[in-house]
Amino acid sequence: MIIVMEPDATEAQLKRVLDYIEARGMKSYIHKGDILNVVAVIGDKININPESVAALDGVSSVKKIQEPFKLASRQSHPEDTIITFPNGVKIGGNERPILMVGPCSVEKDFDGLLKVAMAAKEMGCQFLRGGAFKPRTSPYDFQGLEEKGLQYLAKAREKTGLLVITEVMDTMDISLLCQYADILQVGARNMQNFKLLKALGRINKPIMIKRGPAASIKEFLLAAEYVISNGNPNVILCERGVKSFDTQFARNVLDISAVPIIRKISHLPIIVDPSHGTGKRYLIEPMGKAALVAGAHGLMYEVHHDPDNALCDGAQSLNLDQFREVTRSLNKLIGRIDYDNKNSQDS
Ligand code: PEP
Ligand code: MN
Repeated sequence: MIIVMEPDATEAQLKRVLDYIEARGMKSYIHKGDILNVVAVIGDKININPESVAALDGVSSVKKIQEPFKLASRQSHPEDTIITFPNGVKIGGNERPILMVGPCSVEKDFDGLLKVAMAAKEMGCQFLRGGAFKPRTSPYDFQGLEEKGLQYLAKAREKTGLLVITEVMDTMDISLLCQYADILQVGARNMQNFKLLKALGRINKPIMIKRGPAASIKEFLLAAEYVISNGNPNVILCERGVKSFDTQFARNVLDISAVPIIRKISHLPIIVDPSHGTGKRYLIEPMGKAALVAGAHGLMYEVHHDPDNALCDGAQSLNLDQFREVTRSLNKLIGRIDYDNKNSQDS
């Protein structure tokens, strides 16, 4: 249930509404806007009569909402969530879209990772990606360098100033990852690992959740709801394709329509990953452009210094020359999209 207060409602009237909700065993979250306050009422069964709430002093309107993702919904939080990093980089709203690039997994050749990071910096990207804990379909495939990989990412950050995003697979690793990462990524396969999502709600690092291979948009937003309702509002969503009957030409079907849909029904930033979304390096540029035009707040794609010998996902990774060419072209498009007239120059 969403309660919209009158613009001139007093603090005492707001408190009376909050007390009324609490007395009936429900939790409430206040969103304080510039003009008016909005209260979201949370609970499995909301057994408060909307007419009684609407009759309280200072209440403008009451809406029973159908979507169970209340905190992630735009109804409860009309303004876009914009996440700001200590170096000033922002994700969300009408901010300039950001680029997250790097190898699928961090490998033992640190110089290779550094070459990618330097090229990423040179091309104006903001984030270095790379898995140190890898969710592999087969237990016989490379599982990641774990803490050594995190140290490599941190070293590359030190040398370039890029921010680091890396995957968390297990609640046990959260505190270790927090020492190294700027964003913790929940992989597609863990999108419905509810224990992990709850634990990530209790930390204060931004979390990026990738869409599960067979997850509906509602389930995707409910995953975000787990993190937010446990106390962490800094959630980024990432569309990375869903499974389809046709895998002949692409690994997944990249759901570009998820971008404007999520921008309409949620306030959270939405990033698109055309590498995992398609499985093909030649599709990164066209699908990345489509995502940007559709309103994506950024892109994540894979780059490797030697894709033919990558330990993971070489076929969907760009080499360094291809990376520069594709990123130049994406930056040109970003410069031409009018984000509140903020970026009129090409880069
Ligand atoms: C990744 O980004 O490294 C990854 C494993 O992607 P996904 O979870 O989307 O498969
Ligand atoms: Mn990968």
